[in-house]
Amino acid sequence: MIVNDDFLAHTLRYPEQSDVLDFAFPSGRARVEGAGILSLEPEVKRSNVSLVLSVGIHGNETGPIELANGIVKSILAGDLVLGVRLLFIIGNPRAAIQAQRFCDVNLNRLFCGSWQSQQGYEAQRAQQLESSVKAFFDAPEAVASQKFHYDLHTAIRGSVHEKFAVHPFVPEEIYQQCQLAFLAACGIEAVLFSHQPTTTFSYHSFALHNAQAFTIELGKVRAFGENDLSSFVRMERALTELLVAGELIQDSLSDLSLYKVVDSLTKDHESYQLNIADNLENFTPFKQGFCLAESLVQRYLVEQTGDAIVFPNSKLPVGQRAGLVVRAKPMSAFNFQ
Ligand SMILES: [Zn+2]
Repeated sequence: MIVNDDFLAHTLRYPEQSDVLDFAFPSGRARVEGAGILSLEPEVKRSNVSLVLSVGIHGNETGPIELANGIVKSILAGDLVLGVRLLFIIGNPRAAIQAQRFCDVNLNRLFCGSWQSQQGYEAQRAQQLESSVKAFFDAPEAVASQKFHYDLHTAIRGSVHEKFAVHPFVPEEIYQQCQLAFLAACGIEAVLFSHQPTTTFSYHSFALHNAQAFTIELGKVRAFGENDLSSFVRMERALTELLVAGELIQDSLSDLSLYKVVDSLTKDHESYQLNIADNLENFTPFKQGFCLAESLVQRYLVEQTGDAIVFPNSKLPVGQRAGLVVRAKPMSAFNFQ
């Protein structure tokens, strides 16, 4: 069992745990598969959902870790009755202990097998997480189940839309209305539709396991104990409802802002720079023709007034993504089912 049902404290105490630990909790059976990896099987299923809930893929993004750990703690303690299968992942325990985003390399670029060309802790970790997710979604209990993966993060900088989700690239461009309505119920203000495959954790679950999977940004990075958990109330309520009743609670799509990614910026040279303030918020719009990025190799001019940048970051190795250029689109620009 886990002391005080506190899986976060357990993970921070045993960040290198490799022993499997099986135990019962009031509404099911639990297995710690490795450091930060906890699978829960309910005694009574309320629906056929298999949910992967991952937090702390970036070690210093503590808010979602505390949020999700609190819900899991209530389940283990018997205050909540689990009604669906759950794989709960605290993604990067070593970096969490060091209050760092990562130890060697950004873990959220290493999925879909990309870890094979990297060395170090995160490469091992990506391999381990991929195999845990595969075992969870391929288990006999998951046959014919609805597969969901919500990967919760907080961002380095502020955002015009404090809470937003990244939708995986879907070649056929048909989107699940019930997932977007669930995100709205979670308090998500904007959804960003990707324009190409990536190697993020959520994209991996979508592409390899056919899961409905999202990267969800819940505000700004803060240290453990400094998060205002009241800002996660809607997220907590929606996740709790999903875990207990097996239902995606729904809210109107009318308050959601929708964006399509129109370009991915790549740091193409050591001289590369973004012409923005360090504290510029995600989704800040620019005017047409503004030189958003430049290097000795080329310049990037904004194509259309209103285009905005998300996840800008030029302090990274040449060849890596320096940001996404996004464009607001009306609801009518999307096909839902
Ligand atoms: Zn993150």
